[in-house]
Amino acid sequence: MPYTIAIDGPAGAGKSTVARALSRRLGCLYVDTGAMYRALSLFCLRHAIPLHDEEAVSKAVEGVSVSLRPEEEGGQRVELDGEDVSGEIRTQEVGDAASVISCYGAVRTKLLSLQRELGEKHSVVMDGRDIGTRVLPGADLKIYLTASSEVRARRRMRELLEKGEKADYAAVKREVEERDYRDMHREIAPLKRAEDALLLDSSDLTIEGTVDAILALSKG
Ligand code: C5P
Repeated sequence: MPYTIAIDGPAGAGKSTVARALSRRLGCLYVDTGAMYRALSLFCLRHAIPLHDEEAVSKAVEGVSVSLRPEEEGGQRVELDGEDVSGEIRTQEVGDAASVISCYGAVRTKLLSLQRELGEKHSVVMDGRDIGTRVLPGADLKIYLTASSEVRARRRMRELLEKGEKADYAAVKREVEERDYRDMHREIAPLKRAEDALLLDSSDLTIEGTVDAILALSKG
């Protein structure tokens, strides 16, 4: 039987880094569902699809294929119609666009079956916003990973600066808070803690400390 760990939480809580490290330690697959939403949003941006037009976005993404290719060391590549877009999806613009189009039913339904299939076939650590509540409601372990908005904004800043993008703390904090608000208040599959998810605040924890805490919970 596959063993599944669901990690949900707001932007910048450290979900992806923690989930990747955890999957490496457990020797199982890492599935970054945010990357899938980002790939579809990149498609819309490239084709100048108006993001706030649900019908146009739903139609545009209908025939688009998104796939994940696991790599050694617990990493993964994201492909959009067969093209590796793993680097290109990591911008603030693509993340913000993803949070707009992820409100649409057609977009979510398209990715849901792909995500569920991965969770049914493999032992996985899957991270996102609705994994414990919707994608894998029967996950063996559910974690709701959070951190204060100040810490999350600082982490996002560091990521952006490392990639050579310009970043202003006040603007990044505002964007992080706006994105969370959208993710928590949308109609379909909003970000929320599943009733049986364990709450973990990573504000004062390192990545390794967070991974150790989750591993301890998975054994308990
Ligand atoms: O986690 P990441 O920042 O890559 O996610 C980008 C956006 O994709 C989120 O802000 C959210 O709107 C959307 N998303 C989602 N459901 C998921 C994963 C991501 O709606 N399971």
